[in-house]
Amino acid sequence: MTPESAPESAPESTLESTPGVPTAGPEAIPGGEGRDRGPGPRERWQAELAAAVRDPGELCRLLGLDASVAAEARRAAGGFPLLVPRPFLARMAHGDPDDPLLRQVLPLGAELSSPPGWVADPLEEAAALAAPGLVKKYDGRALLLATGACAVHCRYCFRREFPYADHGASSAGTAAALRAIAADPSIREVILSGGDPLLLDDDRLADLLGQIVAIPTVGRIRIHTRLPVVLPSRVTRRLVALLAGLPAPAVVVIHANHPAELGPEQAAAVRDLASSRAILLNQAVLLAGVNDTLPVLLGLSERLLAVGVLPYYLHLPDRVVGTAHFDVPEAKAVGLIDSLRQKLSGYCVPRLVREVPGEASKVSIS
Ligand code: SF4
Repeated sequence: MTPESAPESAPESTLESTPGVPTAGPEAIPGGEGRDRGPGPRERWQAELAAAVRDPGELCRLLGLDASVAAEARRAAGGFPLLVPRPFLARMAHGDPDDPLLRQVLPLGAELSSPPGWVADPLEEAAALAAPGLVKKYDGRALLLATGACAVHCRYCFRREFPYADHGASSAGTAAALRAIAADPSIREVILSGGDPLLLDDDRLADLLGQIVAIPTVGRIRIHTRLPVVLPSRVTRRLVALLAGLPAPAVVVIHANHPAELGPEQAAAVRDLASSRAILLNQAVLLAGVNDTLPVLLGLSERLLAVGVLPYYLHLPDRVVGTAHFDVPEAKAVGLIDSLRQKLSGYCVPRLVREVPGEASKVSIS
């Protein structure tokens, strides 16, 4: 089962200097110095992560839902158990089994049957591994699997079946990935992904960022994370200082699918991220029953702009086993984007894309 369940503290990842990679160390990044390597007190976000809801019965009790919903969720969860941090739960409507945020995290019986063509690794990422822990699908950039853990389990996730442990989302994998990046000057941008890379604690993140910026051929670091949305307390002052200390602005791609995900706490987290001079973008997945209507997509773009994030991508869902019930027909998706273009300025309209294995970039749909 992957992504891995969130641990009750930040996941282990040994990011000590890697042979073959120039050593800058975290002291090279303002915010990386003076850290305490010992086991310090848990930060608020780590405590919130430990307190995430993992039991469907508890989820239903908290939301005032019928126990039969929990029974179905238990049957359907399989190897990808329910995981919902409470700040995300707090954004859901009470008593509504069709709440669009709940639908993203609640296992349904529909997951147990998949039509032909819905597979474990729809993007063939296992075949795109350039080294353990490093996926290289496109020229100029590579994706470092910093951890297999997430703070939330999104039922539509295209990596829900990805065998992170076998493919280097580990300390040894990270070391191998850094060596491979240092050995390939064509890699100008390193994308931290996972799992969720911000589940590394600040010390480990400082170590990792320090090792990446020490590679002279790397000019940009991009971070893909859902934490500012589902666990906004993760945006600590130290994290902001780490990003602010990078030699070039970080690109942070958050992941919000519905305007209701972006409440005041999330807005404050995004504001803090922006104070690091990071470039803030959003990617969303178009999901049946969640955000496949014009009012919701309009609301999402409006809300993103209001909190300071540019809508970047709207992905058609990848065909991973157990997620067919989220699929949106391409013609409907194109119609929605056309309607959005009529209502919003161009920069407010995300690019509708699909990932196709073997293509040189994401494929724009229009
Ligand atoms: S969509 Fe992102 S945050 Fe959600 S389970 Fe997948 S990797 Fe984790």
